[in-house]
Amino acid sequence: MEHLRRSKVVDLLQSRDFGKEVLVKGWVRTKRGNKQLNFIALNDGSVIHHIQIVAEVTHFDEELLKKITTGSAIAVKGILVESMGQGQQVEIQARSIELYGTADPETYPLQKKGHTLEFLREIAHLRPRTNTFGAVLRIRHSMAYAIHKYFNDHGFYYIHSPIITGSDAEGAGAMFRVTTLDPKTPPLTPEGKVNYSEDFFGKETNLTVSGQLEAELGALALSLVYTFGPTFRAENSNTPRHLAEFWMIEPEMAFYDIHDNMDLAEDFLKFLMQYILDHCLDDLEFLNRMYDNELIDRLKHIVSSTFERLTYTEAIKILKASGQQWEFPVDWGSDLQAEHERYLVEKHFKCPVMLTDYPKEIKAFYMKQNEDGKTVRGLDVLFPRTGEIIGGSQREENYDQLLQRINELGIPEKDVWWYLDTRRFGTAPHSGFGLGFERLILFVTGMSNIRDVIPFPRTPKNAEF
Ligand code: ATP
Ligand code: MN
Repeated sequence: MEHLRRSKVVDLLQSRDFGKEVLVKGWVRTKRGNKQLNFIALNDGSVIHHIQIVAEVTHFDEELLKKITTGSAIAVKGILVESMGQGQQVEIQARSIELYGTADPETYPLQKKGHTLEFLREIAHLRPRTNTFGAVLRIRHSMAYAIHKYFNDHGFYYIHSPIITGSDAEGAGAMFRVTTLDPKTPPLTPEGKVNYSEDFFGKETNLTVSGQLEAELGALALSLVYTFGPTFRAENSNTPRHLAEFWMIEPEMAFYDIHDNMDLAEDFLKFLMQYILDHCLDDLEFLNRMYDNELIDRLKHIVSSTFERLTYTEAIKILKASGQQWEFPVDWGSDLQAEHERYLVEKHFKCPVMLTDYPKEIKAFYMKQNEDGKTVRGLDVLFPRTGEIIGGSQREENYDQLLQRINELGIPEKDVWWYLDTRRFGTAPHSGFGLGFERLILFVTGMSNIRDVIPFPRTPKNAEF
């Protein structure tokens, strides 16, 4: 008896070892009952479903049963039996119950069901105990695992790019400064500016906005690499698609041109969709029922579709000829807005779209310039609902072309000398892309706000937990 090991709810619900003694531990979701019997729905996070515990009232101390309320943590020893009730196949006939922790019904915030997602954001420390966040967190884990699996199976090496960076040339957005200087009395230069040479690193440093530049250094040695880490953008955009701290996956491949890059992006995304259908169906079915009844069909459709490939210029033509009323005008040279991206994906092609060859003015300095002198080999992958899910490009590997663009944009050479070095020594064609992890999780969960797919969202004016 002493050696009885804890079984997980996920395993017990599959088990048909009726008559066997088991030990289960978890948190009470509901308790109901009558004078003879108490029914406790117990969840331990291993699966969306609860296991039913049946306790004969006369068998237990009355005070103990009273203290077992929604939210309390208990351990139950009992016999696994076939359930006669509806909605479950097994249940546990309790022999003994140990109460680990009570949850006062008067003050426990999750005492009742049916809280709004907005309210749950205010109790981010407790929301993992809801069905919704259990499902989201399990899916998030499975996606992270599937990403590492995909790259490992395809011969990619995981590179850890730094989180603190001394370069602010990435150009992907406003940065958060990292400093140990006293904010009240920082050392000053003779000109009265903050003297960062006295700061911890002897220079200005920030949190990274992307691991791409470092991934390129890795690719030009190991051929196939990827980064998967946190990135930070101090953009003051309060949208359902932007976080100040988010995770990004950035594969970078030597000897890949833009077409190889698109092949990889398409294969990778389809693999992830299939993986989640194969491994998280219970959670997907729950989310499909509660939040988005087209979710599972949409995931299956991605797997079976062929992504449409076209240039930015062709997309502009389609958008102009569409006869649609746009909030933002469509003109060659301006960035596509979510409404345009979604029109292409949801209305025009009815499948994911990969757009290439963007005007160079709206893309980053490192993208490979086309011969027309106007466009660069950028790549955006557009999905239904989400719009842009991936941004990438073939990189400019030609030293002179890259330097010219860097000068045109006024980027100080001293900030990117090490990046330029890769084009001076053994440069080679290469490509890569960035997939926003939370944008991916938004898509595969059917949730509509990015704050609900990361455990502790960081957004303007919000870093409580
Ligand atoms: P957007 O136009 O949506 O603001 P971006 O063009 O600035 O994105 P990139 O610099 O291309 O984004 O970053 C690569 C990917 O990272 C994007 O395709 C997106 O999936 C994700 N991403 C970018 N910014 C954010 C953010 N603030 N929060 C969450 N994900 C983001
Ligand atoms: Mn982008």
